[in-house]
Amino acid sequence: MTYQNFSLAQLQALDAAHHLHPFTDHKDLRGAGSRMIVRADGPYVYDSEGHRILDAMAGLWCVNVGYGRKELAEAAYKQMLELPYYNSFFRCSTPTPVLLAQKLAEIAPKSVNQVFYGSSGSEANDTALRLIRQFWVLEGKPEKNRVISRKMAYHGSTIAGTSLGGMSGMHDQLHGAVPNIVHVMAPYAFENAEPGESEEAFGLRAAKAVEDAILEAGADKVAAFIGEPIMGAGGVKIPPRNYWAEIQRICRKHDVLLMIDEVITGYGRTGEWFASQAYGIEPDTITTAKALTSGYQPLSALLVGDRVAETLTEKGGEFYHGYTYSGHPVACAVALANLDIIEKEGLIDRVREDTGPYLAKVLQEALGDHPLVGEVRSFGLMGAIEIVADKASRQRFEPSGHAAVVVRDHAVVSGLMMRATGDTMIMSPPLIWTRETIDTAMEMIRTALDKAAQDLLK
Ligand SMILES: *Cc1c(COP(=O)(O)O)cnc(C)c1O
Repeated sequence: MTYQNFSLAQLQALDAAHHLHPFTDHKDLRGAGSRMIVRADGPYVYDSEGHRILDAMAGLWCVNVGYGRKELAEAAYKQMLELPYYNSFFRCSTPTPVLLAQKLAEIAPKSVNQVFYGSSGSEANDTALRLIRQFWVLEGKPEKNRVISRKMAYHGSTIAGTSLGGMSGMHDQLHGAVPNIVHVMAPYAFENAEPGESEEAFGLRAAKAVEDAILEAGADKVAAFIGEPIMGAGGVKIPPRNYWAEIQRICRKHDVLLMIDEVITGYGRTGEWFASQAYGIEPDTITTAKALTSGYQPLSALLVGDRVAETLTEKGGEFYHGYTYSGHPVACAVALANLDIIEKEGLIDRVREDTGPYLAKVLQEALGDHPLVGEVRSFGLMGAIEIVADKASRQRFEPSGHAAVVVRDHAVVSGLMMRATGDTMIMSPPLIWTRETIDTAMEMIRTALDKAAQDLLK
């Protein structure tokens, strides 16, 4: 099969000759050749050779309403004809981002009512970092500029995003991170809890690591704490239930701002509009992107809480920051149509009441007893499977990260797109998945695990 007038081999040669991919070993890719995804519909993507693949990653955590949505294409088309672009600098605005901002204020936690736009999650985190530092300057405390983050966190790939994140491989390639950012233990019980430690005790201990870092720096030097409610790229690491309330208590006690990165968890994935609502916290900033447009357009929205916004508005002085495409009308039109679909189709209620609990149940039932599976866990429509060599001792395969890739490759061959990160298999399907789609996926994963076990345990 060909794509337009190109064979797969021709496209792969051009790809290798001209296209540098994100997060890729280019020598390795050149040898392997890339899979060409040429179209998509509903929960499926199709490659150039006609294979249909069930997309358990929703693209890259973003296509929450599924593929092939005409409403989103029409919203973009209409906006492009009417006003394809105008900036919101220099006392100008355009209506679409204004209406979207109003909508976002309506669905966000109560104390969050302002929006700063960008085109990606990384940009939004850059904005967040600059904004909270500016906030403390305006408050007359410029020395309160440190940020506490966590190991294994992912906050994007720009220099600020990488510095905020806690991925050691990424840090090694930074050659100079943004200063004054420290990383503490992640609330990842599977690897970090002591034998016999209860979930609650571990949750308090993981939160205490944040307080210890605040006390070590001195609270008058710490601007904010940043964290993903559920770590995504780090391996769908779900914290103990008591962790976030405790983090919020600690932040308030020491007057440290709470920055929450909901680039993955935002817009329905956890069964609420935002995971902050699922965990009952009121952050000072909420970073969002990905599912804001279901990936149909690049758009991010940094949601800004009243405390920070009021200082910015009351004290005044120009905040020298923004992007050409801040508040891009076409991206904002698509976002409005996307939020409309999520609402009208009741996708969030479906995740909270039906598919989320169902996924948790069948992950356990269908995969929990598999010899390669050390743990399954999920929250809403985010799931993870820990791959181990020995179930009882939780010993991993050598070399680290290899086993999950073997499982992943078998899954893709069997028609299911999942991701491997470290020794963890992760999934984050579109919110349009039904119980039947989940059943189908579980069968494919079980088959992939069986095949991987033959490879790995021989
Ligand atoms: C993807 C992601 C980002 C970065 O978003 P980009 O659009 O890729 O820049 C930031 N934070 C989290 C939690 C993410 O998952």
